[in-house]
Amino acid sequence: MNTNISILGSTGSIGKQALEVVDKLGLNVTALTANSSVELLEKQARKYNPQLVALHDENSAKDLKIRLADTNIKVFSGMDGICKCASLDNTDMVLNSVVGMIGLKPTLCAIESKKDIALANKETLVAGGKLVMNAAKKAGVNILPVDSEHSAIFQSLQGCAKHEQIKKLILTASGGPFFGKTKEMLKNVTVADALNHPNWSMGAKITIDSASMMNKGLELIEASWLFDMKPDDIDILVHRQSIVHSLVEYADNSVIAQLGVPDMRIPIQYAITYPDRFESPVKELSLSEVATLTFEKPDYDTFECINACKKAIDLGGLYPACVNAANERANRLFRDGKIKFLDIGKAVSEALESAPVYGDYTLDDVDEMNKWAEEFVNKRFGC
Ligand code: MN
Repeated sequence: MNTNISILGSTGSIGKQALEVVDKLGLNVTALTANSSVELLEKQARKYNPQLVALHDENSAKDLKIRLADTNIKVFSGMDGICKCASLDNTDMVLNSVVGMIGLKPTLCAIESKKDIALANKETLVAGGKLVMNAAKKAGVNILPVDSEHSAIFQSLQGCAKHEQIKKLILTASGGPFFGKTKEMLKNVTVADALNHPNWSMGAKITIDSASMMNKGLELIEASWLFDMKPDDIDILVHRQSIVHSLVEYADNSVIAQLGVPDMRIPIQYAITYPDRFESPVKELSLSEVATLTFEKPDYDTFECINACKKAIDLGGLYPACVNAANERANRLFRDGKIKFLDIGKAVSEALESAPVYGDYTLDDVDEMNKWAEEFVNKRFGC
């Protein structure tokens, strides 16, 4: 098991749940990072006594440095500080639960320092899948999925003899708060409506992504990279109860799935303890209590983000980075009350149609595409 762990994004939803898993397993925390949550990071630092902490925001980091002056904990700031925490010598595993494409560089830093990665930052693989997978292969490190669907697929692949015997991956989707609604009905939905997820308690960005189903599109791209599967061989199935977390169909049409109550602490723990399993803080699944499991096709017309993501990964290159960055900007603008809910889908689809053509790419090209897509969305909606 990985006993020395660095957690990037420790004050977010996944980060906090990861620390609960750490408590249960009795692991050693070597570094913690956050964006700007000074108070909570101070509290976590005092409890877990890591060697390093970092805040992305410079001013917040200055504040934290003063607050932690009576300890031996070193405080860093900015992207450099986050990368220091990702590449610390005595860390075995880096759990990346940073929100958004800003998590890409720390992932690459951790890989270069030969750390195994527990990856909860799906935008990392969407924006720079080729860079991440090539670097991981070169460094010989494992990327263990924390996203519940990808953990389910990873678990369902244990015992798979040969990659070519995998016929299909099936990603389940809860459908979010707007399942069954038409575009007409979604015209005037509010941020509060979109944040009201039926099954999962998550951060704001991903909850809005679930409402638009962009989240499932991003996960399709993520799955394609993680499991080396063609996008055409990845299906999406709406499963309202979020009990079956995803499935793998094999050459003989046998289908293996992973089930459990919807609680991120199971996939977080499995990524840390793989291939072993231990008792977890999560409650037992009672299928007789759940009683009914339903499965339906997604509505691709209403939730146009899924098709945009599928098209982006088919086109390859920087197109996935483009849809991801357009979505990050649109998601933020919607949460800030500057655009309507359906504008998110428009932003993503239109950015993809207008994106400058890119084939092969470097990390700098990803940054450039991110900027291009952000500006495109700003201009499109006059923000
Ligand atoms: Mn997921």
